Amino acid sequence: MSQEMECMCQQCGMSSHIAEGDIVLEDPANVELKLLSKLLVCQNCGGQLVLVGKAGDEPHYRLK
Ligand SMILES: [Zn+2]
Repeated sequence: MSQEMECMCQQCGMSSHIAEGDIVLEDPANVELKLLSKLLVCQNCGGQLVLVGKAGDEPHYRLK
């Protein structure tokens, strides 16, 4: 089972869930700001995404 990660757009703030295996970090050495590769951009505005954590960790995003 693939864990989904939550990513948020830096421009419009829209969050997206991306499968952990599909995530490519822009700079894996930067542990403070986990920017995603420009291959994975916001579907809404094309902005750069930042990894915020595992999907489901935040109660707001818990799925039924
Ligand atoms: Zn966006």
